[in-house]
Amino acid sequence: MAKAGFIGLGNMGGPMAINLIKAGHQVAVFDLSEAACKQLSEAGATVAESAAAASEGADYVISMLPAGKHVAGTYLGDDGLLAKLDASTTVIDCSTIDAETSRKVGEAAADRGIGFMDCPVSGGVAAAAAGTLAFMCGGDAASFEKARVILADMGKNIFHAGPAGAGQVAKACNNMLLAIHMIGTCEALEMGARNGLDPKVLSDIMLASSGRNWSLEVYNPWPGVMENAPASKGYQPGFMVDLMVKDLGLAMEVAEGSGVDNAMGQLARRLYEGHQGGGNGQRDFSSILERLKAS
Ligand code: NAD
Repeated sequence: MAKAGFIGLGNMGGPMAINLIKAGHQVAVFDLSEAACKQLSEAGATVAESAAAASEGADYVISMLPAGKHVAGTYLGDDGLLAKLDASTTVIDCSTIDAETSRKVGEAAADRGIGFMDCPVSGGVAAAAAGTLAFMCGGDAASFEKARVILADMGKNIFHAGPAGAGQVAKACNNMLLAIHMIGTCEALEMGARNGLDPKVLSDIMLASSGRNWSLEVYNPWPGVMENAPASKGYQPGFMVDLMVKDLGLAMEVAEGSGVDNAMGQLARRLYEGHQGGGNGQRDFSSILERLKAS
């Protein structure tokens, strides 16, 4: 059993922290939202007055925050956690943020002898609740070995991607590819349907052929083809368009920073931004099919 401080108890962090409590860890929590703290208090967590108070004496500090500025604000500077934590603490930031901020926090942690891993996740709210998230981790080998012990109580697949920031790069690569193959899958299905094919039959054909991909396998964007997919539930998320646009923005930063000509990724970003601008930000990302239907 470990002592963990958990910061950021939103849609993802809340259920992740609850899984740590269920696994028998002693969990102290902090969030700016009182409602989020109350929910965790009812689940058995100790609610702290600040991030620093939640982290006091913790073996692990875990954060699940919206963006890089929140992570930098939490850890860096004279008032940041890294200035206060004991060197025996392992810091695990699960937020999806820019790789640059993760590297900066990693360097600041290393300067103080504190282990740091950026561990963004794949899998949405349902996977967070079920404890089946995939973690893509960046940091040194010793911190990874410590982190994986507690990550195993929140997830199923835990990968060491490389040094600090590598987890964010892996996540950016994955989600850029996801956006591209979701749009490609929608285009193929719409083209088939307009030419008289049944989308279910076409899906079965492509699943057994070289067009096979994750969107077809588990997340078919055509309503009614796959009973449990968001497309069959009015495109309720799932994974929101707003979050896909955020992740594509992070992917563009990674591509620009390394001089990669990611033409397909850039186009996917433009298409998703257009879809978001049409009032679809809170809908599932597979609803991009409707953009094609309107064309
Ligand atoms: P959310 O907005 O539901 O939760 C964020 C929480 O952080 C909120 O409760 C907010 O009050 C709290 N917070 C913000 N600033 C804080 C601070 N300085 N100190 C303490 N608490 C603070 O977001 P979410 O959906 O839980 O996402 C969290 C992260 O996980 C994001 O980086 C997101 O991109 C990533 N992610 C989300 C999903 C998803 O499906 N929701 C999937 C994969 C990854």
